[in-house]
Amino acid sequence: MDHGLRTTDCGPVDCLFCKIIKGQIPCEKVCEDNEILAFKDINPKGPVHVLVVPKKHYATLNDIPDGELAVVSKIHRAVKKIAREQGVAETGYRTLINTHKDAGQEVFHVHWHLIGGKKLGPMA
Ligand code: 5GP
Ligand code: ZN
Repeated sequence: MDHGLRTTDCGPVDCLFCKIIKGQIPCEKVCEDNEILAFKDINPKGPVHVLVVPKKHYATLNDIPDGELAVVSKIHRAVKKIAREQGVAETGYRTLINTHKDAGQEVFHVHWHLIGGKKLGPMA
């Protein structure tokens, strides 16, 4: 799907999370490697709210080709580690991905929310 963003080799020039990945917009970094970046959500929905993104730009989960799903496994490994480090691995946390408008996706660079540190209540 075209989200109206011009693309470059490093992803769409107007993509907010690509700008964060490139260091053009500051973020509170939680962890990083060559393929993924985790940073604190600017508008946290709980005491812990971290976003984990692949550095390669994919607009939504739908846009990750089957052959590139290894990055999803890597992100889940990071989620487990971050949950431990943030002290919510045992108390509990929610991991979610919003895809397109019915889910309320606002930033079209696929990202995993890791939310915890309080009782989150029902999902919907
Ligand atoms: P979505 O609704 O697309 O699943 O989630 C987008 C998330 O990105 C929201 O939770 C929002 O608070 C967060 N967000 C939006 N702009 C920024 C920003 O500039 N920096 C950070 N760290 N988070 C952002
Ligand atoms: Zn992007």
